[in-house]
Amino acid sequence: MADRVPAIGVLALQGDVEEHLVALRRAGAQAHAVKQRDQLDELDGLVIPGGESTTVMKLLQRFGLASPIVERVRAGLPLWGTCMGMIVASHDVADLKQPTLDVLDVTVRRNAFGRQNESAEVDLNVPAIGAKPFAAVFIRAPWVERVGPGVELLASREGHGVMVRQGNVLATSFHPELGGDTRIHEYFLSIVREALRIGKRSTAA
Ligand code: GLN
Repeated sequence: MADRVPAIGVLALQGDVEEHLVALRRAGAQAHAVKQRDQLDELDGLVIPGGESTTVMKLLQRFGLASPIVERVRAGLPLWGTCMGMIVASHDVADLKQPTLDVLDVTVRRNAFGRQNESAEVDLNVPAIGAKPFAAVFIRAPWVERVGPGVELLASREGHGVMVRQGNVLATSFHPELGGDTRIHEYFLSIVREALRIGKRSTAA
């Protein structure tokens, strides 16, 4: 039987939700905006988009979404954080006592590329998605300062990590939903399909 079309939720408390929904559909998924806890059970993967990390973390706690997301991600639900989403997923934030979900063993630095570089489009080498460089849009982006064991560094800009993966958790400092290239959305869907296959195997065993 053909694999089913994965259902991906985009956290819609704040930030650039619509662009991710469009890109995920173009990459071959069903995609829905997610605001409520009960919607989490219908998902094969979750995206936390760009926005403002302190605001979104407060909203996640206020709406009772933080713990259910952490539980599901620790149990294997694929998660992809872009920009603010990378910050929210991280273990901690350099020089700030900012709460995070702590599902990705990295330390990030917020707004790390400096004022003159606040927004930039950079041709990034991302071997995991092929040889052609990816035109990556950075907007007041974080970088990765520390990676824990088991975290793969998938791309760097100016010597700083900007795309990492730890098993079912993917994070990018930049915004792959802006611009027409859906290769990173397709890469995330490959993680989701892998998780679905593993899930099927364990329920069949
Ligand atoms: N600067 C934002 C933060 O630190 C992230 C920016 C973004 O998501 N585009 O939360």
